[in-house]
Amino acid sequence: MKYGRIYNFSAGPAIMPEPVLEEIAAEVMNYHGSGMSVMEMSHRSAVFQRIRDDAENDLRKLMNIPDNYRVLFIQGGGTLQFAMVPINLMRNGAACYIESGAWSQKALAEAKRYGNVIVSASSADRNFTYVPDCAALDIPANADYVYICENETIHGTTYYHLPETCGKPLVSDQSSMFLSRPCDVSKYGLIFAGVQKNVGPAGMAVVIVRDELIRDDLDPKVPVYLRYRTHADNDSMYNTPNCWSLYCCGKVFRYLLELGGLEEMRRRNERKAAILYDFLDRSEFFRATADKADRSLMNVRFVTPSPEQDAEFVAASKAAGFENLKGHKSAGGLRASIFNAMPREGVEALVAFLDKYEKAHK
Ligand SMILES: *Cc1c(COP(=O)(O)O)cnc(C)c1O
Repeated sequence: MKYGRIYNFSAGPAIMPEPVLEEIAAEVMNYHGSGMSVMEMSHRSAVFQRIRDDAENDLRKLMNIPDNYRVLFIQGGGTLQFAMVPINLMRNGAACYIESGAWSQKALAEAKRYGNVIVSASSADRNFTYVPDCAALDIPANADYVYICENETIHGTTYYHLPETCGKPLVSDQSSMFLSRPCDVSKYGLIFAGVQKNVGPAGMAVVIVRDELIRDDLDPKVPVYLRYRTHADNDSMYNTPNCWSLYCCGKVFRYLLELGGLEEMRRRNERKAAILYDFLDRSEFFRATADKADRSLMNVRFVTPSPEQDAEFVAASKAAGFENLKGHKSAGGLRASIFNAMPREGVEALVAFLDKYEKAHK
């Protein structure tokens, strides 16, 4: 690999596309003849306004976002959205949450501060190794929305079928799968994603929200920054935005369009994930933990026969130049995050290493 870079399997902040990093490096001293870098530029300048507008327009093209949805860029990452969603969307003070892993648990714990949280389905009984069946949820009439974490980064599962929400708006945390495959935005009320998993530098979330869900009648005590209306009415520049992240994310949006868009990303991601899962399914030493039908294309969780051997493997993988293969501390085991920017060669190199390791240790 160029520049002494290594295959980085981090779950976030995570790998970014090399051509994008090269472009950013080339522009860091003088952005398009402005005489300054984007880090030093007024967010009220025409140059920056163009960067922001291009980013939104390219994202709209990539995801084919209908006109009745607003695209917001908000600081505070995915975590702030755990609070902004109930603060802005709860009218009756109730919402249904699907508990499918650590990130949906965090979201529902935060929502409980603001109202009545109904856990409509859960996969806690088998340690979040699958996505609960959401075909016939019992959704009370007063529920304001149905919430899912569409890709559980820590447990390595993803939804291949969206829940039946009985007409309630579907809210989805897409942080670790954003732009990894085509998405029919019209099926959702709100989508959000912290960008540092599959897009760009940390410190920002993209929120895509249907117009009619943006309210003006919130409790007067709700801070101005925590109202979707504030961001929607000000091009996400009510205050200084995360200019750097917005700029880098815009570059990634453009890059994905040039590669052929989200159909092409799905094709690449399915192929990469299949290389790794096929190996794990054949292996007599390593084992993928998620049910086959619900396996994430982005976060591949797996284990060796014991926690001690997991730890030995992590040390050996580091020594061999593979970073961040240790599973999240709350789930243990191993995890390879193979986001959009991970090249197929990176996954092939990992499989070759796993194979060699198995032969030496089984
Ligand atoms: C990482 C992650 C978050 C939290 O993101 P922050 O930007 O660190 O707040 C939320 N949801 C999912 C699914 C994640 O993977």
